[in-house]
Amino acid sequence: MNYISTRGAAPVLGFQEAMLTGLARDGGLYVPETVPVIPESEIAALAGLPYEDVAFRVMRPFIGDAFADDELRRLIGAAYAGFGHAARAPLVQLGPNHFLLELFHGPTLAFKDFAMQLIGQLFQAALARTGQRITIVGATSGDTGSAAIEAFRGLSNVDVVILFPHGRVSDVQRRQMTTPAEANVHALALDGDFDDCQARLKDMFNDFAFRDAVGLAGVNSINWARVLAQVVYYFTAATSLGAPHREVSFTVPTGNFGDIFAGYIAKRMGLPIKRLVVATNQNDILHRALSSGDYLTEGVVPSISPSMDIQVSSNFERALFDAYGRDGAAVAALMADLRQGGFRISPNALGALRDTFTSGRCSEDETLATIRAVHATTGEVLCPHSAVGVKVAQEHIGPEPMVTLATAHPAKFPDAVETAIGTRPALPARMADLFDRPERVTRVPNDLAALQSLIRERTAR
Ligand SMILES: *Cc1c(COP(=O)(O)O)cnc(C)c1O
Repeated sequence: MNYISTRGAAPVLGFQEAMLTGLARDGGLYVPETVPVIPESEIAALAGLPYEDVAFRVMRPFIGDAFADDELRRLIGAAYAGFGHAARAPLVQLGPNHFLLELFHGPTLAFKDFAMQLIGQLFQAALARTGQRITIVGATSGDTGSAAIEAFRGLSNVDVVILFPHGRVSDVQRRQMTTPAEANVHALALDGDFDDCQARLKDMFNDFAFRDAVGLAGVNSINWARVLAQVVYYFTAATSLGAPHREVSFTVPTGNFGDIFAGYIAKRMGLPIKRLVVATNQNDILHRALSSGDYLTEGVVPSISPSMDIQVSSNFERALFDAYGRDGAAVAALMADLRQGGFRISPNALGALRDTFTSGRCSEDETLATIRAVHATTGEVLCPHSAVGVKVAQEHIGPEPMVTLATAHPAKFPDAVETAIGTRPALPARMADLFDRPERVTRVPNDLAALQSLIRERTAR
């Protein structure tokens, strides 16, 4: 399987190289040259299989000869062995025709573990073959960073450097990044917001001398292997609810468009997904873009669902690439306009996006009210991100089953949950001592040169 850049001017790569590279050298994102379709009979055969077996069958065609079948099965098994639920991604029912897909049973209690635990295994196997040493740099609004650190801590041929916005992540998120004691873990608190972290990360990738000198590798949601890992749970959920014999819709709380883009890939693979509903918090650029066609960045307003406090939605570029008929030059022009503040999506492309995606927005008050109402009517305690999804999903319930993705465990955001229902959700027993462990963190300015010299220093051997 070959991977091409959304901006049309980077080398075509195989799966392993695309995974190890992350961002393409023309600034674009890698996407598969073609999307394999799984025949209906094979989709039907996935119903009821263990999560790991579905993962193997769904991901296999994208991986080509990068990993042999036995090795891939073993790595998938290792990736999900540490999850706290035998189903990995269990479904619970919230109401008539409305289901919640719990994606928070991994080691850091957010859906990011599904992708990160797997790519931790894939990177380790790939690096063992090549003998390469790499520096993983990630920008995080809170959950990617902890998931990446958990997946890569202690590996001998990897340094993991995480940039998070100082003061804008929850205490649990911060402590999950600052308490691992391994010397290859570097948590950096940047003076800025998440978009600043993401912008400095892109700057580092676009400085090829630096990129090659430290062996930079990216594990942000721009990494294709992460998107691929997330395609799997759309298949397990939909086949549990009657697919391929019945259509299913999904509502996805999103900021960077990564998780919902995985749903779009599942649909292109033949899974009968009727609607993909984008759910945003008050940072609603995606909702505004799909409603009006204008993709215009405004300042980020911090919210109680901080992992979605994003205005520059990286993975949206992948959706635009398809909506513009896979015209890399057109996407490159849009992204140049974005640096000036925004762009207007062409009528044809907007029509193509709306064939698949609809959207909704949830205010801060509505988020709290939803946590309260769902707790009162079902006993389920939602995290604020999942609540954004549930509120928007409720506005889109139709004749087909609706699945809302629950992206984090409520104990990751205890303040918001306590405000809503008056009790603080407890951390699972396996991380109950999180607040007793010592923290290790470096405060850094929002300055490329300063960051680069710090990273050179920390990764010098
Ligand atoms: C990362 C994250 C999101 C948003 O995911 P996208 O990749 O932006 O779609 C939503 N909720 C939680 C809890 C997250 O960690």
